[in-house]
Amino acid sequence: MSAQVLDGKAIAADIRERIRSQVDDLRAKGRRVPGLVVVLVGQNPASQVYVRNKRKACEQVGFHSELMVLPAETSQQDLLALIDELNARADVDGILVQLPLPGQIDEDAVTERILATKDVDGFHPYNIGRLVLRRPVLRPCTPKGVMTMLARTGIDLVGKDAVIIGQSNIVGRPMFLELLMARCTVTVCHSKTKDLPSKVRCADIIVAAVGVPRFVQADWVKPGAIVIDVGINRLDDGTLCGDADTAAVAEVAGWITPVPGGVGPMTVATLLENTLLAAELHAAGSG
Ligand code: NAD
Repeated sequence: MSAQVLDGKAIAADIRERIRSQVDDLRAKGRRVPGLVVVLVGQNPASQVYVRNKRKACEQVGFHSELMVLPAETSQQDLLALIDELNARADVDGILVQLPLPGQIDEDAVTERILATKDVDGFHPYNIGRLVLRRPVLRPCTPKGVMTMLARTGIDLVGKDAVIIGQSNIVGRPMFLELLMARCTVTVCHSKTKDLPSKVRCADIIVAAVGVPRFVQADWVKPGAIVIDVGINRLDDGTLCGDADTAAVAEVAGWITPVPGGVGPMTVATLLENTLLAAELHAAGSG
């Protein structure tokens, strides 16, 4: 393997340590610690794992955290009423409603009901709009976590060609805005893109967020490129793999993120950063 590994697990541990010491300072000054409420509707097994990881991370850094588990048949009206209650609670800085939601609930309505200053996922139209305007406040966790990883390479991103594969609202699109803000030239590819390999071959930075195991092939990768693998795919044997053919791609790339242990832990660490920021905003009286 020639690529250097961008160790998301280690970077996330550094972030958690920094936040833990900031929370210790708050406690020492007699101030309130940040509070996150995670809402899970139904029993989606992947969501249960994500929620468990997020709560564990909150506990490690000393946040107040609550998990609210609602039955799968919860109505949209009842979920919105719960969000209204959480919006009004002064001890709650962040509200995270784990997606996906059951079919009877409109995810957009839920996202938009959360107060923008408590939207620690960074999905509210207000927060996305701030990112569009290059004045971000709470930024979507996965793309922001990727930017933190890219910073760790020490490589100047200005003017680099970046290709994102995937255009979802939670990864691809905000990733485009982050990389553009970092002054990369960004191409977003998706399922209707013509001749994808030729576009990927032009990239200094490749972000794969497709959801297809081992999708990105070694011969699509420019030698030395940075390959950020956002994908989390569970194989039939129960193991996890990313959206890149990691072993082969690592022979060509300059940097690569592993799966697991790459972008996943960074998403959770960024959620903690956002919750701390939301608490600071609330303490300062905004929101
Ligand atoms: P999504 O299904 O919403 O979007 C997938 C995107 O891939 C779509 O825009 C689609 O157009 C594109 N696509 C599908 N097939 C394609 C093809 N053949 N060629 C080009 N583009 C194609 O998925 P998502 O929510 O953005 O998640 C993507 C992956 O990232 C999943 O594996 C998901 O589990 C993972 N994920 C990981 C994290 C993390 O923290 N690491 C966070 C969110 C999502």
